[in-house]
Amino acid sequence: MLEIEALTVHHGLVRALSDVSLRVEEGSITAVLGANGAGKTTLLRTVSGLIRPTAGRITAFGQDLTGLPADRIARSGIAHVPEGGGVIPELTVAENLRLGALWRADREDRAAALGATLELFPPLAPRLDKPAGTLSGGERQMLAIGRGLMGRPRMLLLDEPSLGLAPLVTAKIMAVLRDLRADTGLTVVLVEQNARSALSVADHGFVLGLGELVASNDAASLLADEQLSDAYLGLR
Ligand code: ATP
Repeated sequence: MLEIEALTVHHGLVRALSDVSLRVEEGSITAVLGANGAGKTTLLRTVSGLIRPTAGRITAFGQDLTGLPADRIARSGIAHVPEGGGVIPELTVAENLRLGALWRADREDRAAALGATLELFPPLAPRLDKPAGTLSGGERQMLAIGRGLMGRPRMLLLDEPSLGLAPLVTAKIMAVLRDLRADTGLTVVLVEQNARSALSVADHGFVLGLGELVASNDAASLLADEQLSDAYLGLR
């Protein structure tokens, strides 16, 4: 469903990704792991069309997305929730959610998406009219994911949803991702430094080290791989 082939990406003179190839299966939760600076954010931003690759090819849903503008990629069914969530603190929770569905013309469709989002994240419902800036960190992350889902994507790209959250809150968010996949078949790409929590819900994981793909395996095998844990995952 998402195929990345020989992707190389530069930030100016800095090569952030070198010849990375990976495949995300439809309906899977796929973790992309690695230390700070490994290139995880760069990978997501390139898939979303926010950065143009130097070389390589990105295809999703059988469509070549390489080099397409970000709005076209979003419309193809890929939602990107950036690191920190990117919610707008001055706007209300409801307004932030509506931003995620702006491009959907059908009013009933938008209302249904809102209902589904609030069912998924009940703490948001009583806060719809509050500025997003008044939410806790966990609620903000729920809002960010909820906004991504408002466009009814086929694939959700999540950048470090656990960042700054207490372990219990992170576990709740991971549980929601698991339910979502079970209920809707949504494909999730989960970028995390927190390997343990990502691998607790992921089917498969890729590990990046300094811009290169250093491992690809099912989640259980990655968790059990001592060498990998020591070198890249900070699990012990
Ligand atoms: P983090 O968890 O800190 O976000 P990451 O794995 O997501 O790390 P990236 O943010 O993709 O890593 O960064 C990969 C490399 O590219 C790093 O060496 C980083 O310093 C560099 N880099 C990222 N963004 C830029 C930029 N806008 N300009 C220059 N270099 C950048």
